[in-house]
Amino acid sequence: MQELINQLPTLAKDKYKENKKYFAKLKKKPPKKLDQMMQELHDEEFAATDCLSCANCCKTTGPLFTDKDVERIAKFFKMKPRQFEEQYLRTDEEGDLILKKTPCTFLGADNYCSIYEVRPKACREYPHTDRKKFQQISNLTIKNVAICPAAFNIVEKMKAKLPL
Ligand code: SF4
Ligand code: SF4
Repeated sequence: MQELINQLPTLAKDKYKENKKYFAKLKKKPPKKLDQMMQELHDEEFAATDCLSCANCCKTTGPLFTDKDVERIAKFFKMKPRQFEEQYLRTDEEGDLILKKTPCTFLGADNYCSIYEVRPKACREYPHTDRKKFQQISNLTIKNVAICPAAFNIVEKMKAKLPL
């Protein structure tokens, strides 16, 4: 797995133009069966993926924290939301709340998430490959294929299954 993770930025760079073109076409005319196809590809890929031997998302990129995420996680730590924010989060250039640092503070050396039950919504949904109207998050997906080996494979399988 680590070898693939190391190669991923180069592999994704090689596919960048092709993916850009593909998603531009997909956006223009998304097929009716897209949601169902993505769900199947996502389920199939994650059934064969061991995220605990990867954790590259938690190591290299952090989630956005919604107000609900902050409330829930602060409660878990028996902290005030404000206190939690001050200790762990910062506001980025776009005004979103993000982690002060990566790898994520809540990631253990064993790749387990210490706040798994209450983790941010963005973590639960990452890499968003089973999202409805998948064509709407093409820019994010193009970024994610350089981080997440499962997302990379899903996009490659998607292009093979649905040539445009
Ligand atoms: S979601 Fe992707 S990047 Fe994150 S641990 Fe799983 S395979 Fe790795
Ligand atoms: S909160 Fe948990 S799942 Fe989310 S980035 Fe941190 S370690 Fe990963």
